[in-house]
Amino acid sequence: MNESKNIHNALRQVHVNTPCSPISGFSISGLATYIQIPELDFCIDMGECPLTAIPLDHVFLTHAHGDHARCLMRHHSLRKMMGVERDSVYYIPECISENAKAWIKSEALFEGVAESKFRYPEIEPVTASKRQFLRYRKDIALEAFEVKHSIPTMGGTLYFYKKKLKDEFLGKDAAEIIELRKNGVEITREVYEPLISFMGDCLGESLLDNRQVFQSKVLITECTFLDDEDEAMSKKKGHSHLKDIVRALNEMDGDIKCEKIILSHFSMKYSDKHIRDALDKGIPEKFKDKIVAFI
Ligand SMILES: [Zn+2]
Ligand SMILES: [Zn+2]
Repeated sequence: MNESKNIHNALRQVHVNTPCSPISGFSISGLATYIQIPELDFCIDMGECPLTAIPLDHVFLTHAHGDHARCLMRHHSLRKMMGVERDSVYYIPECISENAKAWIKSEALFEGVAESKFRYPEIEPVTASKRQFLRYRKDIALEAFEVKHSIPTMGGTLYFYKKKLKDEFLGKDAAEIIELRKNGVEITREVYEPLISFMGDCLGESLLDNRQVFQSKVLITECTFLDDEDEAMSKKKGHSHLKDIVRALNEMDGDIKCEKIILSHFSMKYSDKHIRDALDKGIPEKFKDKIVAFI
């Protein structure tokens, strides 16, 4: 299958329609991962930076591996070059955010920026289990979680936030509602609807460690290895094997709320045909309508 190494092109984007937003980008292990979600103004990782990523204001870095992180500052500088005035915000796991800052600064100095002129981009350190609103989207909240990979890595869930009328006030007419509000009665409750969860690079067991991800409308998860002989390799490298995905699907079964489960980050040694054939053979029939290969 070595000839297939030359066929993947990180700037040739994959497009998937989902109930939350069209999703586009590229994700092949070792080459590049970037996953753009334009309707949520969000991008997961920046292993390449196509021009379509320039308008996106929020970028989440799952971990420091180059194929995910390499173009983070290219995104920042291309925006400046193209006259985008608003600062983009980079969400970075707290445990690597200081290293990221050192890297960002040395890259700028390497490019000839004078130390006195250097200014950090907007960086939001992210910690697990803390829900935070996206900087420019008060209707979208992000909650990150830790996953198991060869280096510290995080996944996350994007929630749609809204206020809903409390059940006891449903059916009341507008005048009554206005009156209640005037009297200071709290008539609404807060609702966080899980839209999209993404795993980052991880061992397959991280899916069941974070099983709330199956409540999202869309789940994006890595599936680096497919073939039987690659199972040991997947454990060694801290990646998911197709068998891990199937195990998690079978265990969650009726509790899966996802309308789409996008499998990404396949090993570059597999051709597109090999990936499609392996999924066709390996995914149980009852889950097939949910599964999309991000190729
Ligand atoms: Zn990776
Ligand atoms: Zn990685």
